[in-house]
Amino acid sequence: MSFSALGLCDELLKAVAEQGYTVASPIQVEAIPAVLSQRDVMAVAQTGTGKTAGFTLPVLQLLSVGLRAQPKGVRALIITPTRELAAQVAKSVKDYSQRMNVRSGAAFGGVRIEPQISQLADGLDVLVATPGRLIDLYNQQAINFAQLEILVLDEADRMLDLGFINDILHIQSLLPTKLQSLMFSATFTKDITSLAKGMLTNPLIIEVAAPNSTVDRVTQKIYAVDKARKSELLIHLIKKYDWRQALVFTRTKQGADSLVTQLEKAGISAASIHANRTQHARTLALDGFKSGNVKVLVATDIASRGIDVNQLPCVVNVDFPYVPEDYVHRIGRTGRAGNAGLAISLFSEDETKQLQAIERLIGRKLEREIIAAFAPTAKSSTNKANHNTAPHKKTSINTLDDDEYGNFEADPQPRNSRGKPQGRGKRASDATGHKRRY
Ligand code: AMP
Repeated sequence: MSFSALGLCDELLKAVAEQGYTVASPIQVEAIPAVLSQRDVMAVAQTGTGKTAGFTLPVLQLLSVGLRAQPKGVRALIITPTRELAAQVAKSVKDYSQRMNVRSGAAFGGVRIEPQISQLADGLDVLVATPGRLIDLYNQQAINFAQLEILVLDEADRMLDLGFINDILHIQSLLPTKLQSLMFSATFTKDITSLAKGMLTNPLIIEVAAPNSTVDRVTQKIYAVDKARKSELLIHLIKKYDWRQALVFTRTKQGADSLVTQLEKAGISAASIHANRTQHARTLALDGFKSGNVKVLVATDIASRGIDVNQLPCVVNVDFPYVPEDYVHRIGRTGRAGNAGLAISLFSEDETKQLQAIERLIGRKLEREIIAAFAPTAKSSTNKANHNTAPHKKTSINTLDDDEYGNFEADPQPRNSRGKPQGRGKRASDATGHKRRY
């Protein structure tokens, strides 16, 4: 469906055309008219579906009428779980509102608060913020919510995962009761349902695609290899297939840094992005990756959320994630906005349990393959891993010389959707028992 059929004004239609969007994505087709009708909305939508424009465009249109923001006032508040996502959504707001008389800004931790206080001094029509910094700003009386008309909670599931529930409830208690509220979440679990009940009034529920649709557009390959040889195999793959750009995941911050050192030693430009790095360092790394100066960006799960690089061709899991849902989030960085993508995972025998959990979540078995020069020494255990995963099926490991993989292009055909993710448990701490707070 074209954007003009959705009731958007000319200024926004021009902005959308400038972004190169010709047709509205399914979430946009549903969400834009619903938000314009000033209803509360609960939308189940993953990153990569075009959800940001789905709420930003109609919110901007609603703000084009009414009183301008008063000093320290905010008319629309968009809350995101991570800094990167806040910066990215704020950029979209600026891009789409170029022709409108709209003042917008972002507020997130890790950078000085003073410039954020000054930008709020005259009031903002749209503020995109992470929960912690928003509360700091409120405590410092830099912001008031008296004028607030619209609240957007983006990636609500992730907010819960990262332990933000109390912050969200606290923020909610500060807001006016008469408010249009929109909630976006990749999953629709019990916890999300109860959060939605407390925050939304008679919401329109939008669920346009199977939550795993991104996964279905991504070709997934699993290479069995000894743990100690994972970096070597990654370097081999990058060089052999001359990947233009790859987003690589490790489980730990130390793992990310050590991998960057090894890649650099091998002559591959790389940078890391994780919670121990300053916001400035993270921004530099992400910008370098986006501009093509950095070929490989190595990220941990928390830092990766919300990274949106146009048409990212390839994602590599050097380590499997602690929780299976993170696998879906990780590989959702490729295969976005209708493009095909490639996700490669380097599997070592000790990760059998994680792989099985992922297979259960996505409802699909993932074939392990072996590159001859990197065949794992513990073959029998790997076979056992296969057997455990599909006890009724005869399973095999394809042993291939990687010359047979001369072309790492993603499968252009979307795969069949099979199975939805199961409800995810509340997770406020990682496997080390530390609270995951961004
Ligand atoms: P999001 O799900 O909001 O993170 O968007 C994912 C990507 O899709 C972003 O790079 C957007 O710029 C892009 N996008 C959003 N809407 C459209 C559209 N209607 N057509 C093409 N690309 C889009």
